[in-house]
Amino acid sequence: MFRHTKAVLEKLRNVRLQGQKLSWRQRSTAVEEKTLHYIAGQQIHGFTVKEVVAVPDLFLTAVKLTHDKTGAQYLHAARDDANNLFSIQFRTTPMDNTGVPHILEHTVLCGSKKYPCRDPFFKMLNRSLSTFMNAFTASDYTMYPFSTQNGKDFQNLLSVYLDAVFFPCLREQDFWQEGWRLENENPTDTSSPLVFKGVVFNEMKGAFSDNERVYAQHLQNKLYPDHTYSVVSGGEPLAIPDLTWQQLKQFHATHYHPSNARFFTYGDLPLEQHLKQIEEEALSKFERINPNTQVPSQPRWTSPREDHVTCSPDLMAPDPSRQNTLCVSYMLGDITNTFEAFMLSMLSSLMTSGPNAPFYKALIEPKIGTDFSSVVGYDGSTKEASFSIGLQGMAEEDTEKVKHIIHQTIGDIIEKGFEEERIEALLHKLEIQMKHQSTNFGLSLASYIASSWNHDGDPVELLQINNSVAKFRQALKENPRFLQEKVQHYFKENTHRLTLSMTPDDSYLEKQAKAEEKKLQEKINALSDIDKKEIYEKGLQLLEAQNKTQDASCLPALKVSDIAPTIPVTPVHMSDVGCVPVQFCEQPTNGLVYFRAMCSLNTLPEELKLYVPLFCSVVTKMGCGSLDYRQQAQQMELRTGGMSVSPQVISDCTDLDMFEQGVLLFSSCLDRNLPHMFELWRDIFTSPHFDNEERLRVLVMMSAQELANGISYSGHMYAMTRSARHLTPAGEHHETFDGMEQVRFMKRIAEMSDLTQVTRMLPRIKKHILNPDNMRCAINATPQQVSKSATYLESFMKDVAANRKHFKAVRPNIIKRPLDVLSDSGPSRKLVHEPNFHPCYMKTFFQLPFPVNFVSESVRTVPYSHEHYASLCVLARMMTAKFLHGVIREKGGAYGGGARMGGGGLFSFYSYRDPNSVQTLSAFQKGVEWAMSGQFSQQDIDEAKLSVFSSVDSPVAPSSKGMSVFLSGLTDEMKQHHRERLFAVTHKNLLDVAERYLSAGHKTCGVSILGPENDAIKKDPSWVVK
Ligand SMILES: [Zn+2]
Repeated sequence: MFRHTKAVLEKLRNVRLQGQKLSWRQRSTAVEEKTLHYIAGQQIHGFTVKEVVAVPDLFLTAVKLTHDKTGAQYLHAARDDANNLFSIQFRTTPMDNTGVPHILEHTVLCGSKKYPCRDPFFKMLNRSLSTFMNAFTASDYTMYPFSTQNGKDFQNLLSVYLDAVFFPCLREQDFWQEGWRLENENPTDTSSPLVFKGVVFNEMKGAFSDNERVYAQHLQNKLYPDHTYSVVSGGEPLAIPDLTWQQLKQFHATHYHPSNARFFTYGDLPLEQHLKQIEEEALSKFERINPNTQVPSQPRWTSPREDHVTCSPDLMAPDPSRQNTLCVSYMLGDITNTFEAFMLSMLSSLMTSGPNAPFYKALIEPKIGTDFSSVVGYDGSTKEASFSIGLQGMAEEDTEKVKHIIHQTIGDIIEKGFEEERIEALLHKLEIQMKHQSTNFGLSLASYIASSWNHDGDPVELLQINNSVAKFRQALKENPRFLQEKVQHYFKENTHRLTLSMTPDDSYLEKQAKAEEKKLQEKINALSDIDKKEIYEKGLQLLEAQNKTQDASCLPALKVSDIAPTIPVTPVHMSDVGCVPVQFCEQPTNGLVYFRAMCSLNTLPEELKLYVPLFCSVVTKMGCGSLDYRQQAQQMELRTGGMSVSPQVISDCTDLDMFEQGVLLFSSCLDRNLPHMFELWRDIFTSPHFDNEERLRVLVMMSAQELANGISYSGHMYAMTRSARHLTPAGEHHETFDGMEQVRFMKRIAEMSDLTQVTRMLPRIKKHILNPDNMRCAINATPQQVSKSATYLESFMKDVAANRKHFKAVRPNIIKRPLDVLSDSGPSRKLVHEPNFHPCYMKTFFQLPFPVNFVSESVRTVPYSHEHYASLCVLARMMTAKFLHGVIREKGGAYGGGARMGGGGLFSFYSYRDPNSVQTLSAFQKGVEWAMSGQFSQQDIDEAKLSVFSSVDSPVAPSSKGMSVFLSGLTDEMKQHHRERLFAVTHKNLLDVAERYLSAGHKTCGVSILGPENDAIKKDPSWVVK
């Protein structure tokens, strides 16, 4: 994977804590306390302890160590959290665009000395209960993290990871498969033309089909032109074919060495055990080297620069005549200065985030562009941080105007500063983020400290966030103009700034295709007949290797018997508050209260349905009661952890033709803010300001832009949603709310010159949705806060009692399901039943300006409670791991592909960033034939089961506990029943369900492809082309 790291605040958003469950459960603080017993200077398994620091705000103890012989650095964060994490990162600083660190990241995972089988990384996905496994290439480091809740699994994965990074095979064949190669288009046919293939080659072509990515990449390359940041670490597609296998091995030798490594471990497993294993299996085999990978400071410019780039036109853009991007980017200070970096990320939020920010007022509200550019804000992923400000979706003639506004706004900020309340709101947000408990805390920490630590910043200092907050408050107290002076220094007087514009070029894709063709011809012209013969033979060898049955027995594995036979029970209780049913779930939420309300859409007239997502995205942002939208945003930041509304389509667990449709309200707050949070909801219920057309237009533009930008990233989701559209009634609603239909609808709305029609719809929708008659609520809080929450919820219900209206349901068949499984007579969920629904077969193609495809086929099968459901879950995993991955990714060159069984009873095949289109559909079919042939072993089945369980048992945050029963009526008993069925799945069961539901004559399916112009599909009348 290749990623562009975001700003510190973005990362802080992920620093959510497992929290103070100790005081709640009355457990001992054994893990953190025990770790405090380490002392500086102590030697353990070849390491020396440098520092031991308690970080009470994050409930952890940090231990910093160094490896004596090699100089490898190590940080351990001991915390009472069973979701243990390991990560190793190397400083990787490429000096060309061949993508060498990225291709290396892929190839080291293709087999190693101790684990020489092909692709141990992907194989471990099925031999472990990992909660996370991945690898990332950033601009200047490469990171390999995993997490698991099982101690044995941790050791297994650690062994595989260590061997992969330090002793990889790096076979030539791995390099061809993952990097690039010339090969006959059809490898078995010498007369078929030679083409470029390779996983990273295609991945980067896909990545560069995203205009926002193209822009961000150019911006970084041009703002830091003198060293490693001037190149594309992921690889420029046309430079990738310049990399040789020798260069790849050389890069490994110099960069993947303990002297250039940083180890991070997190969780409740003992540190000694980790150190011992790391020393024995890896570090003891190395001597210290001088890796020489430091990134020098970027020399400062003495005068600002301007530059310009082009991109492909976006057919989905809300306004085709406005597709320019323009930003001014400032180089700031060194990210290893922890406080300065913290202050700058706070300052950046104050300047840009939310409707009260000066840049929002100056750039977004005049509607010069559709939204901020995605690079806007603080970015701490390079050695010197940067701040960027500017717009996307603007007209070329507005360029000077935008530059002027940016300049002017900086001047205004220096003059006026920021309101104290906004600073408080921001610090409150940080407090909530630190208290909120997430399930992947270890991973958030690893990525939070990665960049600064990579340049020898102090990771422990970074963890002490409250020290930075205190210092920040102190600085503001001592000097009221503190922030204004910083703006003066970092922005007004900063000569190292770049103004970069991007305009679409109609012939962009054509030029790219030509350049690729030229590169290909150059390579081909240099080949002798012998070379061509060799290419053909190598192609066949690769194909043969890919076709060979894999022996993975060298890899460690958990057994099915290592999986817990029963699930932990989550107690909830139902009650009635102000005539509305409420579910309470007591959880160690660390002082936060989580509120949800599900509002049914059963009475909403059909013609308003398409507007529901729009309603949801604006209803908390238009202002309410006595607050205008700015004041409302401010209050939400000051008093809550956010308030959101989202459309829901929930399939029934027992019947595919039944579903619930609704809208989910969600918010959280510190317990002291409960009354304020409910006052905000009250005002949204009773007096939202829907009539502000100007405000609505800004919000519409932003959501349309966001939807359009998301397609190249989530194309497989859109393809799956579309292929399922005509298979179940719920599938149809999904397409309406989350599919391409919604994307196109929002584009149409964004293009309307007059939005009065829309502003008239919103109050009509509100009458049906924000209606206590159609509502049920859920509260997750600590036991102490439950009754207090109930009291405030009750007075909220009184306040909105006037909204209670009884409307008739639009669809005739409404089925009631009790909310409380123990009482049939109590309150119920109301599901729409369409007993006469006829699924139909439909093939849809969306032509989009991407060089790659997203392919999907969905098949209607059975609901969750059906006896075959578990077998279908296991089958999907097994087909993915044992067949589809090989055919679609390894041979086909797609970034990803597989099958999944969804809760709505749909078995879906998909491919992601795929150079092939209709060929992939036949790969799906071959997968079914493979399954029906029964050529899989008990080991294959057990691996698929492990993989299913690792997702079934993935940790659930206290804020989300009890949600499956609240939203879907899925009880612990049903889950336990499903679990037992999963354990029981046999070889015969898998054959049966493959035959019964997926075989050509039997299946009820739909197909969809998103991709570039496709002649074969155009000529084939069985396709609907959109
Ligand atoms: Zn990748």
